[in-house]
Amino acid sequence: MTAAADNPAAAATAAGEQPVCRRLVGRTAVVTGAGSGIGLASALRLASEGARVVCADVDTDRGKAAAEQTGGLFVETDVTDEGQVEALYKAAYDTYGSVDIAFNNAGISPPDDDSILTTELDAWQRVQHVNLTSVYLCCRQAIPYMRRQGRGSIINTASFVAVLGAATSQISYTASKGGVLAMSRELGVQFAREGIRVNALCPGPVNTPLLQELFAKDPERAERRLVHVPVGRFAEAEEIAAAVAFLASDDASFVNATDFLVDGGIAGAYVTPQ
Ligand code: NAD
Repeated sequence: MTAAADNPAAAATAAGEQPVCRRLVGRTAVVTGAGSGIGLASALRLASEGARVVCADVDTDRGKAAAEQTGGLFVETDVTDEGQVEALYKAAYDTYGSVDIAFNNAGISPPDDDSILTTELDAWQRVQHVNLTSVYLCCRQAIPYMRRQGRGSIINTASFVAVLGAATSQISYTASKGGVLAMSRELGVQFAREGIRVNALCPGPVNTPLLQELFAKDPERAERRLVHVPVGRFAEAEEIAAAVAFLASDDASFVNATDFLVDGGIAGAYVTPQ
């Protein structure tokens, strides 16, 4: 696996050495799954651009640590629980007076979600709840605040597997991300004239601890995937966070209802370089 160390641009981003603009001063951002990976990198990036960040996670220790790092608020939230999601958005509004950015990002990818031939109903349903129903619940809470303000940016984390089939199947995960993508597009269209943009973020494989552990144990498994990535490496979480900050900001004022791919060219590739 090619690490960030071999890629100066990714390494500089990861080390926080990129010049950061201040596009989000005065904005309130709610980030779910803020305790780890893409959510944590994005919470930090949004805060560095001036946003007040509300960190939501089911993991109290990680969520609290994220809030400390961003100087924001931690709200313990299980995103599958309607009452907790309602309380999350209320806490954001009550504390900071607005809900301008909703990054609905929490998601799971458990090992018992695999080929359709071996994935049992309970695994299917668990993944649908955490990855898809949660996005419905979060959007349902965020949109009324944004309508009242006449402004808002919602970014829902889908995945490149929402637009590409994988023979290394995780059937419920893929279906859930397809649902996130279609729901985001529809909401983006429905609320466009009320100043609300909704985009589905579609990351390619990201170099998170989970992925590192999995592929360190099984290099063949990594190689099976890397061959399809034109740039020849996985993304760093900070590279995904940069896209989140863009979509959250007014720089993306005409970017709406998209499948926003940040995948190193995977979805556009037929034959990749050797
Ligand atoms: P991660 O496991 O590093 O972080 C996910 C966070 O979500 C964790 O802090 C976890 O505690 C939290 N979480 C899990 N269930 C929750 C729940 N019910 N309520 C609240 N919080 C909960 O994962 P990541 O790799 O950063 O992935 C973030 C998102 O990006 C997910 O939706 C994932 O499907 C998507 N994604 C990841 C990759 C990748 O390669 N890592 C690629 C494409 C899309």
